Amino acid sequence: MSKLQKTLLAASVSLLGFNGCGSPDLPDTETTETVSTRQGVEVATAIPLPIPACALLPDTDGDAVCDVVETLLGTNPNNPDTDGDRLNDYAESFGFGGGLDLTALGANARRKDIFVEADYYPNQQPTQAMLNRVINAFANAPVTNPDGSTGITLHIVVDQQITAADADLDLSPVWTDFDVIKGKYFAANRAPYFHYMLFAHRYDGGNSSGISRGIPAHDFVVTLGFAAVTEVQLAGTLMHELGHNIGLRHGGTDNANYKPNYLSIMNYQYQFYGFGIGGLNNVLDYSRVRVASISEQSVNEVSAFTPVAPTTEADLAKISALRFNNAQVTGNASTNLDFNNNGSIQATSYARDLDGNGSTANVFPASQNDWLALAYDGGGQIGFATSGITQDLGREELYLVPPEKMEPCLTVDARDAR
Ligand SMILES: [Zn+2]
Repeated sequence: MSKLQKTLLAASVSLLGFNGCGSPDLPDTETTETVSTRQGVEVATAIPLPIPACALLPDTDGDAVCDVVETLLGTNPNNPDTDGDRLNDYAESFGFGGGLDLTALGANARRKDIFVEADYYPNQQPTQAMLNRVINAFANAPVTNPDGSTGITLHIVVDQQITAADADLDLSPVWTDFDVIKGKYFAANRAPYFHYMLFAHRYDGGNSSGISRGIPAHDFVVTLGFAAVTEVQLAGTLMHELGHNIGLRHGGTDNANYKPNYLSIMNYQYQFYGFGIGGLNNVLDYSRVRVASISEQSVNEVSAFTPVAPTTEADLAKISALRFNNAQVTGNASTNLDFNNNGSIQATSYARDLDGNGSTANVFPASQNDWLALAYDGGGQIGFATSGITQDLGREELYLVPPEKMEPCLTVDARDAR
């Protein structure tokens, strides 16, 4: 708990003349008990900090932060999750003891946060530059927050190396073997707040770049340890699998991959490449625009894609390095887009297979803005915490699906590994 928070609490308590509600002397050191849940590391169980003065004060939303303190903190006394990231106001404002102080890790009850613990196989420690590509993508998200900021704070906590003896090279079957590692290296007290991921070698004997445990879910693996990959490919795969964890599919709302008007790294065309955005290359992004339906029967290079409000032509014009049929073409999403990659912009419309399925008869529905569709609950795992401190924020089972079956197409081969 920060000094400011303690001061606010003490002030609220004394202002109201209460001294028996909660714990008036908010201790510096929290009580902890140690348990060994990770190899070689003593970690502590989550012991809640003293409930802030709410025993005798109104706490309308039942999040264990009483209304007067919520007012001081600028959080919403009528909503236990002011910023809508599934981490409740108490956890984000006061954290928990035992080494799980979300506040110390940078959580903010008024700005969306996503926490990921990342462990890695030998020789696969991620570089900060690679992680920053994904962190920056989330920071630039077109998502508004109660504190007036835009973006999402992605906390990737790189934790520890999996020992060579524990680093199962084939992870087959993937989740059985993954759970053995997770059981040893992931502190259980993080489960209500963190996604867990591994930078691993392979899974299920294939060349797939990674897999998420479901859509949404709270576990995923990036399995590029066997391949020589670039920083962008690694970062794109990390963001792609995390995307499944937060509810995104290969077609955004559906599993139809390669939809030409779905401009997201969830679309396999972009996982290893990203986009040109604002003059920068290889920018990783989920879809930030809505693009109108397009028919392969009538493709027009001059008019390119059509925006769906509130997306504008100007928004589309910022996005370039578009890809169809495994080739990057010139132009941008708004105009002069060389769909057939023949080096010239044709004025007349024509039929073109844009998703590589061998047909020119497909009509693709309007695409979604991914950033506004994220699911923060980790498939029902994130948003729960110690009973009495963090209430169930409402598990949504609606989107729970069996683990994703990755298509074999996004394997690493010589062409993709350039
Ligand atoms: Zn995928």
